[in-house]
Amino acid sequence: MSLMFDPETTVYPFPPKPARLSLDEKQFYRKEIKRLLKERNAVMVAHYYTDPEIQALAEETGGCVADSLEMARFGSQHPASTLLVAGVRFMGETAKILSPEKTILMPTLQAECSLDLGCPIDEFSRFCDQHPDRTVVVYANTSAAVKARADWVVTSSIAVELIEHLDRQGEKIIWAPDRHLGRYVTRQTGADVLCWQGACIVHDEFKTQALQRMKALYPAAAVLVHPESPQAIVDLADAVGSTSQLIQAAKTLPHRQMIVATDRGIFYKMQQACPDKELLEAPTAGEGASCRTCAHCPWMAMNGLKAIADGLTQHGREHEIHVDAALREGALIPLNRMLTFAAGLKG
Ligand code: SF4
Repeated sequence: MSLMFDPETTVYPFPPKPARLSLDEKQFYRKEIKRLLKERNAVMVAHYYTDPEIQALAEETGGCVADSLEMARFGSQHPASTLLVAGVRFMGETAKILSPEKTILMPTLQAECSLDLGCPIDEFSRFCDQHPDRTVVVYANTSAAVKARADWVVTSSIAVELIEHLDRQGEKIIWAPDRHLGRYVTRQTGADVLCWQGACIVHDEFKTQALQRMKALYPAAAVLVHPESPQAIVDLADAVGSTSQLIQAAKTLPHRQMIVATDRGIFYKMQQACPDKELLEAPTAGEGASCRTCAHCPWMAMNGLKAIADGLTQHGREHEIHVDAALREGALIPLNRMLTFAAGLKG
């Protein structure tokens, strides 16, 4: 185990919350964004964890709302010359790596991810150098530099399948950066996995005892858990999976109530998928602790309407993603491996 990074003691630079907009202001920015998207030949690519009004706007304007794997695929295949990526920075970088000819704009370049921040390239590279016999698999939630150091990139939707595949080939693995997801795939596959110790500040916060109490209050509810959550939370789940897999589980499970342990932004698409079901947030406070993120990623929350309009108007250093050409070349190899592997699973 690497002890170079300790998510328990790390203090993250939480961004300020965006200013609240009045109804008139919201209407103004929605109209403005629609106009700007047309004018710039741009399309919105939004993550499930952005605010519902951003997801609704992406849908209305012909864009997509998806997990990071599908965002990457959609963006690279769409004919628009500009992608407005509503999410966090690594998603914009991934879009640029896959579509270097396109202009990639983000509402803000300050939208980080604790997994990305917790896996700095120099330390990670030294860690990999200490284990040259291992295949390096990194989660999509990493910088372009970390991706370029890896053999494979993976998202949570295909993590178990990929590690199973590598294990069958007799490969030993370095997994980074999420320790909980790393432990989950290790348990699912029995593979030889050495984990980096990063954590998602949102999923890390779900509380076991509080969830047990909630289960007692709603005994007929199914518990849906993202595998970036601690193992004790995963152990209480009726379904474990990526964002897309959890939406599918909410639809197909027979339960009428769902306790959902992932960012509450997902409720927008989950409720669309099963309008007759009741969705309940899994607890992030309790056991003497108050919540820090309260089940909503503070960096995803930076993707407000005004910031999107600013991104489409101003471009420039505040909004446009650039990736160094050499890094791009290096990161493209494991990213393309992931996309080819994922396409093989579908077919
Ligand atoms: S929810 Fe967690 S994994 Fe997703 S962007 Fe926020 S910090 Fe990163």
